[in-house]
Amino acid sequence: MTPAEVRDKLELAAFEDDIFAENCYVIRRRDTHRVLLVDPGLQASRVLEHLAREQLTVEKILVSHGHIDHVAGVPAIKRETGAPIAMHPEDLAILDWAHFAEMPFVPAGFEPFIIDEPLAHDHTISFEDIALRVLYTPGHTQGSVCFLFGPDCFSGDTLFARGIGRTDLPGGDPAKIVVSIRRVLYRLPPKTVVYPGHGPSTTIEQEKLLNPFVPAVD
Ligand SMILES: [Zn+2]
Ligand SMILES: [Zn+2]
Repeated sequence: MTPAEVRDKLELAAFEDDIFAENCYVIRRRDTHRVLLVDPGLQASRVLEHLAREQLTVEKILVSHGHIDHVAGVPAIKRETGAPIAMHPEDLAILDWAHFAEMPFVPAGFEPFIIDEPLAHDHTISFEDIALRVLYTPGHTQGSVCFLFGPDCFSGDTLFARGIGRTDLPGGDPAKIVVSIRRVLYRLPPKTVVYPGHGPSTTIEQEKLLNPFVPAVD
């Protein structure tokens, strides 16, 4: 299937939460009622309402990395849908469950989860007849990944429009995030659309030209 054919088969909806402005993406097939969820956070109850209203079935929960804004809704979605959780195991080290549960904004019922599908670089996730590629992009955290779906890349907190993820939190590494962006993301086709964990979408071409934190070197 060509990248254009993949895009034709999918429809994307983004739900932002009110505290972190974190984007949860609902990737829906146009031909079936199946969806993949990327990073359900504090907006998970709104996402669940949307799923019920549209009669959608969650095939998998994809987690870009282990920060609370990206995982706060994972237990609730798992409980409601039973969908397997796919995440890179390196970020188990920063899932501080006791600390998370004490955070005032974290929803009641938040509980530890396990990774059903451990991710690694070039791991393929199938979504019926569409294959999604996992890109390992450490730096924001040690277990950060991006999800490449035809011509679309879900970049978590690795790459934003004109920005990059902070590296001062546990597991952050300022040298590694630059290497991940230059060697992995900037080598994607220039027209690849990037859907970040926060803020608006962009393209690889625009970031190579205009990103002030990681200018392209080649
Ligand atoms: Zn993060
Ligand atoms: Zn975030």
